[in-house]
Amino acid sequence: MKKSYYIDYPQEHIEGQAHRYRCIFCKQETTAINGNLEGHTSYCEYRIQMEKAGFECLSTHPSATIKDADDYD
Ligand SMILES: [Zn+2]
Repeated sequence: MKKSYYIDYPQEHIEGQAHRYRCIFCKQETTAINGNLEGHTSYCEYRIQMEKAGFECLSTHPSATIKDADDYD
């Protein structure tokens, strides 16, 4: 089960930073998260809850794809 965008996480305004918001759990900026579940830290309560609910990261092995190019050519 996947969603294209994960934007329903609780956010808080970054104090002193106009128009900038972050996840209240892992404190990652919304611009860094960019709607991706993996944009949250692995210990983020929102991410953990989503993964428990059966949602997946869009790219399950983000670093492996880069390695594969060299290893299997
Ligand atoms: Zn988070």
